[in-house]
Amino acid sequence: MKLSRRVSMLTPSATLQAKSDAEKARQAGIDVIDFGPGEPDFDTPEPIKNAAKRALDDNFTHYVDTAGIPELRSGLADRYRRDHSTPYLIDEVMIGCGGKNLLFLLAQAAFEPGDRVALFAPYWVSFPDQIRLAGAEPVILPTREEHGFVPRAEVLARCHSEKGVRAVILNSPCNPTGAVIPPEEVVRFVDLARRHDILLISDETYEFFYYGSGAFASFAPFASRIKDQLVLVGSFSKSYAMTGWRVGYALGSRELIQAMVKIQSHDASHTASFAMKGAVEALATPRSVLAAMKEDYRRRRDLMVDGLSRVEGVRCHVPEGAYYVFPNMRGFMQRFDLSSSVDLSRVLLRSLGLATVPGSAFGMDGYLRISYAVREDRLREGLRRLQGCRSLPGLVPAG
Ligand code: PMP
Repeated sequence: MKLSRRVSMLTPSATLQAKSDAEKARQAGIDVIDFGPGEPDFDTPEPIKNAAKRALDDNFTHYVDTAGIPELRSGLADRYRRDHSTPYLIDEVMIGCGGKNLLFLLAQAAFEPGDRVALFAPYWVSFPDQIRLAGAEPVILPTREEHGFVPRAEVLARCHSEKGVRAVILNSPCNPTGAVIPPEEVVRFVDLARRHDILLISDETYEFFYYGSGAFASFAPFASRIKDQLVLVGSFSKSYAMTGWRVGYALGSRELIQAMVKIQSHDASHTASFAMKGAVEALATPRSVLAAMKEDYRRRRDLMVDGLSRVEGVRCHVPEGAYYVFPNMRGFMQRFDLSSSVDLSRVLLRSLGLATVPGSAFGMDGYLRISYAVREDRLREGLRRLQGCRSLPGLVPAG
C-alpha cells in the first residue's frame, strides 16, 4: 500500500510500545510491575462521573459548538482569571480531544515548512512528531542532569541568535523528568519571547502536581504582557484522573485559537458533548481533593527516589513535579554490560518483570522513565527487585 511521506517520518510511540511489551510479558506469565504508564492510578471522582451520566440522561448527546461548550470555556476563562489574573475571553479558549489534540491543532495552525521549533530534551514523545507533521523542523536543545533537567532561557537565546526559532514548546512540570521551571526562569523565557517575537507554547498538563515550595510557576500570569506570543495548553486527564475522557484545552490570542477551531471543524468537530459536561463539574472539584491526590503522589515520589538511590549504579535527582522520575542508569548498565536504555528496559522486563520506558524515547539515552503512579505495595516490590538484583538471567555482570 502506498502511504503518505508524512507517515514514514514518524517514530512509533515508545510509550505505547512499552505498554504492549508489558502486556506480552504478562501473557507469558511474568508478574509485571508496570512503571510504564503515563496515567494516574486514581479513578475519576464520582461527582464528575455523575455529571456526565446526567448529561446522557438529559440527552445531551448532539453536536455542540466546535470550540467546545460555552459553559466549559467560560468556566476555564474564569478559573484562569481567578488563579492567575489572565485576561482571556471566551473566544480565546477552546476545548479539544485531550491536550495532545490541542498541541496537534496548534502545530497545524502556527507552523509551516521552514519553521524551526525548539524544545528541550528530555522531551515528551509527541512533540517532535507533531512538529514534523506540520512540516516544521524540531530543534532539540539540551538540559543538564545537574540542573535537574530544567530548561534554561539562555540556551534558547543562543539558539535563536544563531539560526532563529519560530516557537518553543515548554513543558513544566515535565514528562519525563518531573522538572519544574522556577519562577525566575519563567520570567527569562517570557522576556525572550517578547523581545524576539518567539511563540511560547506552555504545556502545563501536570500543573497540579507540583511538590516544591511556594506556588507552581505557571506562564499564565504573563498572559496580558505577551498575549500574542503565548499559548497555554492544559488537560483534565491528569489533574482529575480523566485520561479516557479526552478533554483538554488551550488559551491564547483570539486569532490563533480561532485558527485552531477552524482546523478542528474539519477534524474531530469537538470532543464528546457529555465528557465536556463532566469537565464542567471537574472545575468545581474542591482543591482539597486535588491536594489529597498530590500528597499521595508526593509520598510515592519520596519512596521511589529513596529506593532508587539504594540501587548500585543508579543516580536519581529529586523531581519537583508530575509523577515520573528519570534516573541515570549508566552505572547500572555498566554493571551488566548493557549499551543502551532500550536494551536495559527490555532486560528489566524479561528478567525482573519491571516495565519502564527507555530514556532514548525522550531524547536521552542512559536513563529510564519510571512512573510512580503505581500502587504503593507494587512500587515497594519493584524497588525490592531492583535492589536485590545481582545478576540478570541470561546476562553476566561485567567485571
Ligand atoms: N502533554 C504531556 C507532557 C503529557 O504527558 C500528556 C499525556 N501523556 C499530554 C500532554 C496529553 O494528555 P491528554 O491528551 O490526555 O490530555
